[in-house]
Order: sequence, then C-alpha cells, then structure tokens
Amino acid sequence: MHRPVASSFHSKDVSFTNIPVRKLLLTFALTLTFLARGENYDLILRNGQIIDGTGAPAYHGDVAIANGRVAALGKVDGTAKREIDVVGNVIAPGFIDVHTHAEDIETLPLAENFLRMGVTSLVLGNCGSSKLDLGKFYNDMERKTFSPNIASLVGHGTVRAKAMGGSFDRPPSAAELAKMKSYVAKAMDDGAVGMSTGLIYLPGTFAKTDELVEVAKVVGARGGIYTSHMRDEGTHIDDSLSEVFHIAREGHMRAEVSHIKLSGPTSWHRSEQVLKEIESARAEGLKITQDEYAYTASSTSLSQLIPEGAREGGKFKQRIADPKQKADIIKQMHGMLKRRGTPDYSYAVIASFRADKSLNGKNVPEAAKMKLGSDSLDNQIELILDVEKRGGASAVFHGMDEQDLQTFLRHTNTMIAADSGVRKFGESVPHPRGYGNNARVLGRYVRELKVLTLEDAVRKMTGLPAMSFQLKDRGVLKPGACADIAVFDPATVTDNGTYKDPHHYSTGFKLVLVNGAITVENDKHIGARNGEVLRLNGSRKSHAHLVSPRQS
Ligand SMILES: [Zn+2]
Repeated sequence: MHRPVASSFHSKDVSFTNIPVRKLLLTFALTLTFLARGENYDLILRNGQIIDGTGAPAYHGDVAIANGRVAALGKVDGTAKREIDVVGNVIAPGFIDVHTHAEDIETLPLAENFLRMGVTSLVLGNCGSSKLDLGKFYNDMERKTFSPNIASLVGHGTVRAKAMGGSFDRPPSAAELAKMKSYVAKAMDDGAVGMSTGLIYLPGTFAKTDELVEVAKVVGARGGIYTSHMRDEGTHIDDSLSEVFHIAREGHMRAEVSHIKLSGPTSWHRSEQVLKEIESARAEGLKITQDEYAYTASSTSLSQLIPEGAREGGKFKQRIADPKQKADIIKQMHGMLKRRGTPDYSYAVIASFRADKSLNGKNVPEAAKMKLGSDSLDNQIELILDVEKRGGASAVFHGMDEQDLQTFLRHTNTMIAADSGVRKFGESVPHPRGYGNNARVLGRYVRELKVLTLEDAVRKMTGLPAMSFQLKDRGVLKPGACADIAVFDPATVTDNGTYKDPHHYSTGFKLVLVNGAITVENDKHIGARNGEVLRLNGSRKSHAHLVSPRQS
C-alpha cells in the first residue's frame, strides 16, 4: 500500500510501516534539531550503564562530550567526531583518589598505575608531607603536561620542619608558629585544598593539639579541609579521633580521617565503635568523613618500628653507637611489639631498601636469617636498626582484620583512596594498592563479596570525594561537568597485583577520559596528558593549550 508522504507525517501507522518515509522524516527532523541546537559532539559513548556518582541507580544510555565537558546524557541524538559503543560497560565519573603520595608525578607524568584503575584526579600532600611552595609546584606542572588532574594539601610536617629548622621534640616559639601559619596561608592562597597532618611521623608527632589548632584555623578560614594520619590507629584510636574532632570544631572546618583502620590484633573488632564515635561527632554538626584502601596490610617506612625518640633530630646513628642508649631503644621496641599483640616482626615485609635490594619482598625474620644467620627476635631488631642506619626502607605491614575493613567500607561516608605514589613499573616490591585499589573494590567487594552495591562503590570513588574536597565540577556525571570518565566492565574488572607480585596493572577498563581526552583505551594508557591542576574554589588557570589532547 502506498500513501502520500503528506498524510504520513502525523500518522504513526505509516511512519512505522513505511520505512523509507520514516527514515526521511527522521533525518529531516534531526537535521533541524542540529541546526537549532548546534549539536556537534566530540565524542559519544553509546549504550552504557550510566552510574552518575551520586549513588542513584544505574540506567541505560549514552554520554556525549564536547569541549572537555559532559554535554548530554541519556538518550543522545546526533553524531560526534567519534562514537564508541560501550555496551556491557559502566560509564562512571573518573575516580578521585583523595589520599595519594603522588608527588613523583613530576617525573612520572603518565601516572599509569592510577589511570589504569580508573583514577582521573589525585590529591597529593597527605600525611603531613607536601611540596612547601605549592604555587611554584603548580606553575612548574602547568608548564609540563601530565595525565591525571592533581590537587594538593599542604603538609603540616613539611611546614613545621621548615619553620623550626628541623625535627624537634618541643613546641614552636611564637615566631616559629607565626612562620608556620604564613607558609600555610600562602599554600592555601596558591590553591591548596586543605592541610594534612602525619602525627606518627617526624616532625608532626611532636606537635601538640594546640599547635595544630592554631595552624588549622588558617586553613578553616579559607574553606579548606583538615586531613589526618592520626597519632594512633590502634588501641588509642579514641583519643586520636577526639583530637581530629577538636581540630575540626575549633578550626571551623571539614575533617577527614585518613586511611581509617584498626592496626594490630590488640585493637581489632572495634570498627563499629569507631564509626559510632564519628557518627556522634557528625550529630554534633561536624563534617567528618574518612577514606580507606581495600587491603588488610598498610605500608609506610620500616622506621615506624623504631621509637621516634631514637630518630629525632637526625641523631639516630649516634644513639645506636652508644651501648646504653641502644639497649634502651631495644627495650622500647620489645614493649611496642607487645602492645601491638604480635610475637615477632613477621607481619613486616621490606618493600624497598635501596642499600640492599636482595631484602625487598622479605619479611623481617627472613631478612634477619639471610643477613645474620638466625631469625631470633634480637636479630630481627638488629636488622631493623641496621636497615635504618643504612638509609631506611619502606615496608608493608600485615596488620588489619578483614571484618573491620568491610565494616569501614560499608559506612556511607567512607571514600576509596589508595595511599600510594605513582608506581615505577617493576621497581621494588611495593604494596599492590597503587595498582589495584579501585579495581579491587569493584571486583572483590562489589562483584564477589557484595559488600557494596556498584552504585555506592562508584559514589565512594567520585561524588563523595569531590564533595568532601570541594573539587568543583568533578565526581558527578551531569551536563556541564568536566568529562573525567571511567568506562569499565563490571563483570571482569580486576586488580591483578598481589603482595608478592605487585607490578600488574588493573584490567577491565575500556576507556578512561581526563577532561574529555581518551587516556586509557582497552586497558592501555595511550599517552594522553590532559590533566589539570585543581585549585580550591575552582580558581583554575585557563588551559587553552590543553583543550585538544596531547599525545606523547
Ligand atoms: Zn598516612
């Protein structure tokens, strides 16, 4: 049957049965739409499961990108320079890792370990340690190109060491405190997102709470967050939490408990109680959040096994050379081990020891046996002191309980952060979290163990960190947002690094985009360096030169 075109225009009947006519009309209508709206996208991702980062349920649809921003979501009509069918994959905001030590991005600008697990924005400067002059660092970085976006905290420890001329077990003088505040004020004015403390490390460990409050006020007045590697993550965690709450209260600021954990068997199974304490601080009106990595081992310097009094002021070698002082240090180490609830140091594995790479990957008893002939506790302590004497090492510490980890993970205000630097592929035996943290959450804790829903896991990697650290236009997929996007297959996404064999990138990432530029494609970093410096309150420099992705 043949009907005139005119009569088919309003007739559903005809437009659905008469294909050529329908096609013609559709094309005509779409052309009009283009002309009217000027739609012309750079990229359209088709047929994905959109998870927008707010925690809202996934829905089927497309995401269109233009000029580095999300232009449209849902059913997207029109065409783009490139269209990619991502059927079977999730389209999520790029992941934001608020707890990194990625200062080494200066020399490793691709940050491949992060990009290849979907991370598109990094917060540097954690645990009290940062660049001192962030303004200069940002300007230097902006003259180069790099793959992820970067923001930074200013490190209280860095500032304290500079103002006081070293690491000292005393309060700062009035003049030194004024200096600390001025360094922090400058960093905030340069765009820092807040201030971090590392209260187990030199020199932060010597700072009393009133000093921290005074310095934190400078940050609070400028709208920044306070983040803390707390004084104690074991049996005295309650006191540590109270200190965080006190600083948040007095500084009129948000606060983040960094890498929340209960470390050492004597402190295990108290995660519910810890979260209750945080909940009651929030009920009081304090904005307390926390981050966590998805592993039951931590990683930091091996020197943490040695009392800080022995290391203070750069006089470790001198003290160890004196038999009386050395005997006292050893006695303290026995006490620390006992309080922790472990019989020896087999929980500590050397990750990177420059002076003797043969020890990398060995636990302390194994290393003691290799080097000193036996793994007696005395020899284990001797080995730890010797490593410190010869420049120190980083280590992996197996010290957490899986149930505690999961309880923290489930909490609505826990975000996902790796506590890693940029990894140099194949070097040493570092903690695998730097390669796998986000993929491990999506694979192990969403797909396998069902601890989290996929939507909630994504929110903990995107919307929640963006809100807490005030990263404007990031972390949520909506029109106008920066096009940082992770596209992954929820059925296969996997972390592949292990403690023994960490140097394996995550897989399952079809695409990772940074400011609209495809940076990872089919689990390969393709070299794009389209990251930006993210300053607090979005005081971005214009990056006309970065609009089109650079390849290297
Ligand atoms: Zn830390």
